[in-house]
Amino acid sequence: MKEFDYIIIGGGCAGLSLAYELNIHSKLKDKTLAIIEIRDEYKKDKTWSFWKVSSHNFEDCVKKYWNNFTINIPNHTKHIECKNTPYQTIDSGLFYQKIINNLKQNNNVYFFKNINEINTENSYIFNSISDIANSKNNLWQHFSGFEIETNKEFFDEEIFNLMDFDCDQKESVHFFYTLPYSKTKALIETTWISDLNNSSINDYDNQLKDYIENNLKIKNYKVNFKETGAIPLFHPKNIKKLNQIEIGTAGGMTRLSTGYTFLNIQEQSKYIRQNIEKIKDVKLFSINNKYQFLDNIFLKVLKNNPDKMAQIFYKMFNCSPNTVINFLSNKSSIYEDFSIISKMPKGIFLKQLF
Ligand SMILES: Cc1cc2nc3c(=O)[nH]c(=O)nc-3n(C[C@H](O)[C@H](O)[C@H](O)COP(=O)(O)OP(=O)(O)OC[C@H]3O[C@@H](n4cnc5c(N)ncnc54)[C@H](O)[C@@H]3O)c2cc1C
Repeated sequence: MKEFDYIIIGGGCAGLSLAYELNIHSKLKDKTLAIIEIRDEYKKDKTWSFWKVSSHNFEDCVKKYWNNFTINIPNHTKHIECKNTPYQTIDSGLFYQKIINNLKQNNNVYFFKNINEINTENSYIFNSISDIANSKNNLWQHFSGFEIETNKEFFDEEIFNLMDFDCDQKESVHFFYTLPYSKTKALIETTWISDLNNSSINDYDNQLKDYIENNLKIKNYKVNFKETGAIPLFHPKNIKKLNQIEIGTAGGMTRLSTGYTFLNIQEQSKYIRQNIEKIKDVKLFSINNKYQFLDNIFLKVLKNNPDKMAQIFYKMFNCSPNTVINFLSNKSSIYEDFSIISKMPKGIFLKQLF
């Protein structure tokens, strides 16, 4: 069976980002790479959005960006500017196409469906798959979205809505999220933060229809694309294996309080590329420990006080926009961390420490 210098298990966001980063920096000129990917074809399956706090390789896959956003709780709306760090949305279809076209030009890169097709003994493995499907009792950010098109101009395309908490919370944490791509097109998502055991909150289509028709007051629209997913708000437990590291969600690249993962994956790919020749000896790339600590407290608060979370998220945005965005994107200074902490209800948070 054929052998490779490197193997990437899972050719999704993390696997392909890493392969691309290695290829464009000529790290696959004299090395071979096998990508193991189960899917039959690549097509748009999601969009990745984030505040652009660091550079990445996929500016040409950005579908739209915004310099302004809102956050709502019943009877209150906050307008926030994010000109310094625009909020970008990447179309996964463009992302997959760009990377596959690039990798196809390198004869050292091979695709396989199953790891059993190759010899793995002497390879270094980057693994992006993990067994977390059964962790239903943990917290997840689960959501579903419609990309809709209206026949009349309806949306303000200059401003997106990050969180609209003016909806039924069902003793959980629930908000809607709207990304207006143009005056007539938008992605609207219903998002829950909870475990995955409560089937009464999984009727996403009804929630979306109700919100679109009764809150946004749009009667005539068609659904062009549907996105459904669940992001684990916990890190998978990995068994340390010789000559293998985990990447992407499996490698702990999700920010637990927000679900944001895409830019962390890009930073992890860059780190691996910079250290690829000595990868066995360098320490693993990880999200700064202070965020793991703060996010764990935040999630405990969320689990025990779902009814208070809308107010807590809303209050967080009383800080300067740069501070909140830096904090949510793991780029905050100690001063900014304290500024966020000072806006949080002290009693509730202190209780979770002990
Ligand atoms: C619908 C959705 C929307 C998201 N939106 C955002 C967002 O807006 N911003 C953000 O920062 N993060 C977002 N995330 C979180 C995160 O960025 C994505 O989940 C991202 O795709 C994680 O990359 P990954 O490579 O770890 O996993 P994936 O992209 O899921 O890649 C894993 C790959 O492994 C393949 N695979 C699975 N099993 C096997 C197997 N046995 N053998 C071979 N291959 C296998 C899969 O087909 C897949 O291609 C979103 C997640 C989802 C699910």
